[in-house]
Amino acid sequence: MNWTQNFESILLDRNSGKCPFCGSKETDFSITTISDGMGYCDIWCNDCKHACHISRMNTDGFQNENKKIPEGLKY
Ligand SMILES: [Zn+2]
Repeated sequence: MNWTQNFESILLDRNSGKCPFCGSKETDFSITTISDGMGYCDIWCNDCKHACHISRMNTDGFQNENKKIPEGLKY
């Protein structure tokens, strides 16, 4: 199981979708731009705490929302 489809959904319509581990819709994501439209993305599930870190992505079109990433996530 992985978060590939969730990441694609975020890129398409900013929707993190269902958790691939437990099926919960209580997922969320945070995108952080480091420089020149490059940055990283974290996706997580608020129910089972599984999470995924995409270490490098093109962040053009995304705002830094400075969302708080929950503690205790299982990457
Ligand atoms: Zn889950």
